[in-house]
Amino acid sequence: MLTHIKTIKWLTTFAEKINEQQGYLNELDNAIGDGDHGSNMVRGTEAMKESLNEGDYSSVEEVFKAASMSLLSKIGGASGPLYGTAFISMAKQASQDNQDVIAVLKAGLEGIKKRGKAQLGEKTMLDFWEPAIEMLEQKNLTYEKIRDIVEQTKDIKATKGRASYLGDHSIGHIDPGSASSACLFEALLEGDI
Ligand code: ADP
Ligand code: MG
Ligand code: MG
Repeated sequence: MLTHIKTIKWLTTFAEKINEQQGYLNELDNAIGDGDHGSNMVRGTEAMKESLNEGDYSSVEEVFKAASMSLLSKIGGASGPLYGTAFISMAKQASQDNQDVIAVLKAGLEGIKKRGKAQLGEKTMLDFWEPAIEMLEQKNLTYEKIRDIVEQTKDIKATKGRASYLGDHSIGHIDPGSASSACLFEALLEGDI
């Protein structure tokens, strides 16, 4: 069950993890994209962290809404609008029900699908979000499983996003957006939510 305090803590941990992995995320994107995914993410999550820790929030919905604004306006690239849409969908969901984290994440996943028009198996962040939420629902998502899901994106041939320009050569590389999404779910496991 989410509260606005827990949500701020969760997203702050997410930002810290992204910051730690900036170089790694850039490297992943360098192999099959344009090498900016880490820098893009850090711009967004640092702005998000600042606004969450300075603002005055009293609901989960407000926290996700503020986060979505920072991510949408600061990340840029393909992933900015996707993370922005995920978080705005999560805000909407949080306003409707009991702040159930699974329902909130499922709404985020639907937002990404709608915005990016990708499906499972196209080597995008969806290939992380969908199995991760399923495992979370079955109460068996662990740090190890998170790493496995990220690792499994190696086998997929990209048919969406910049990596799709490489065709078969995208196989054998981790999807950067799945690796950044892993930070969000790791932060959730740490947060006792
Ligand atoms: P850009 O490709 O514009 O430089 P980023 O490097 O920040 O943007 O983000 C790349 C990531 O965005 C990919 O690794 C992938 O996970 C995600 N992505 C790209 N296109 C889509 C899409 N249509 N649906 C879902 N995720 C996508
Ligand atoms: Mg890129
Ligand atoms: Mg780019």
